Amino acid sequence: MRLLHLVLTGLLLTPAAVFATDEPQEPALPEVKVIVDTSEVPELKAWGEKSAKLIQQWHPKIAEMLKQEGFTPPREVHVVFKKDMDGVAHTIRNQIVIAGNWVKQHPDDTGMVVHELAHVIQAYPRGGPFWLVEGIADYIRFYQYEPNTRLRGINPERQSYRDGYRTSAQFVAWMEKTHPGIVQKINEAIRKREYQNAMIRETTGKSVEQLWDEFVQSEDVKGRR
Ligand SMILES: [Zn+2]
Repeated sequence: MRLLHLVLTGLLLTPAAVFATDEPQEPALPEVKVIVDTSEVPELKAWGEKSAKLIQQWHPKIAEMLKQEGFTPPREVHVVFKKDMDGVAHTIRNQIVIAGNWVKQHPDDTGMVVHELAHVIQAYPRGGPFWLVEGIADYIRFYQYEPNTRLRGINPERQSYRDGYRTSAQFVAWMEKTHPGIVQKINEAIRKREYQNAMIRETTGKSVEQLWDEFVQSEDVKGRR
């Protein structure tokens, strides 16, 4: 149905496009607007500008990874650098808040900006499953943006899919590899507040626990030990 629609749209639009040569074509969507505030940490101005470019570059890619019919992620992203803030960063709706001290000590950590940008685009309502919210954000960071980063592997006695972050990211990457499209499906369900672990059984025929056991026995994990 979608293909047919595209074909028909293409046929209908082609003659217009051919004759509309005088007027420049509007792009489908304007560039993402990024507003950076380094007023508390002015020495990070250049770093802030670099992160704005990174966001403009990665917003469309992450939006594509987490796409859903009828959903448009926020097209404006605010980045605020804080002088007195512990930790690394967090995101509230379309605002990414970054600890200035972290950036000064880890100037190469642009991956955390991508992780936070993933949260902006996830735009999940409150109460989403923690392990997937953080697991998908780190999956995007470590498997798409920094695909050469070697994650540490899994110790099944000490780690669980529920841990979030890097542990869940490795599991999410394996689920996507073995069941392509599952990340988009999970993402859409979380946005609609419909996600439950039962969904994974409906999609794959196996429970999350069964998949986790398969994953920790897989070469993806064993090859990293
Ligand atoms: Zn996060």
